[in-house]
Amino acid sequence: AKDGGRNAVRFFVPEMQAAIEARLILEQQLRYALERNELELHLQPQFDARGAVFGAEALLRWRRDGDWIPPSEFIPVAEESGLIYPLGDWVVDEACRLLADLCKLPGCASLVLAVNVSTRQFTRVGFADTVIATLERHRIPTGQLELEVTESLFINELGTTQDCMEQLHAAGLRFTIDDFGTGYSSLRYLQTLAVDSLKIDKSFVRGVIENHSDASIVRATLSMAQALKLTVLAEGVESEDIREFLVACGCRRFQGYLFGRPVPASAFRQQLLSSGVS
Ligand code: C2E
Ligand code: CA
Ligand code: CA
Ligand code: CA
Repeated sequence: AKDGGRNAVRFFVPEMQAAIEARLILEQQLRYALERNELELHLQPQFDARGAVFGAEALLRWRRDGDWIPPSEFIPVAEESGLIYPLGDWVVDEACRLLADLCKLPGCASLVLAVNVSTRQFTRVGFADTVIATLERHRIPTGQLELEVTESLFINELGTTQDCMEQLHAAGLRFTIDDFGTGYSSLRYLQTLAVDSLKIDKSFVRGVIENHSDASIVRATLSMAQALKLTVLAEGVESEDIREFLVACGCRRFQGYLFGRPVPASAFRQQLLSSGVS
């Protein structure tokens, strides 16, 4: 048995070696892509109850040698390597640059862009100052940048994380809990003053028509949010049936393929020009 164990360990070593090397290569390529400004933010529209666009979520895109690498593949690498710090700064800067341009369009002065921020970014001293300085540099009112964070931000009540969040919130930035309902933290964090809204995870939204418990979770989330005076947005809205269900439950904000896919900023700009905003 002892021998078998030892053999089993030896058997996996070359595979582990290969996986580590592949990761290092990906990290290196991502670093170059960031330095050469080869990353892009695509924008997915967010709609209000009247069917008007009020904002968009910025989603990171990396095209490597003609192939799109999904963020689910490179964000974890960036988080583990620490590359998420410069990458995250770039995302905020680029979102502000795009916002400064989009806000000039007729009727778009108060457009809100939401950016995804990894929990790890909040552990870096000076993150809040960097974000605030970036907004100032682009002359963007702080209320027009929303930060999408996940529940993992609230698991440890680490001083730096909380302070950072409170500093940003006090400066006027809004916070949304992304993928709401998929994490394991306590609900107590919803009472933190720094949280403004919830984003119901697409895994629940997808199932509301066929799945009784998904429907119940979505209903419960909406009524709890109402009681706590939090705004709710449903993500991953793919069909008219789902939209109708959500409207009937009192949901007033939507995002998903039914409404529009993430598109390059230039295409989003065209959509705003042709459809107009609130
Ligand atoms: P997320 O923040 O939950 O983003 C929503 C994901 O759902 C996006 O995938 C989006 O393209 C996709 N989506 C939008 N509408 C629909 C729909 O109707 N149906 C379905 N099935 N999917 C829809 P994407 O762009 O591949 O991003 C994946 C994840 O990568 C994001 O999940 C987010 O966690 C992370 N990510 C993306 N951009 C950034 C970034 O700039 N910084 C950080 N830290 N993470 C990012
Ligand atoms: Ca998000
Ligand atoms: Ca999400
Ligand atoms: Ca996610």
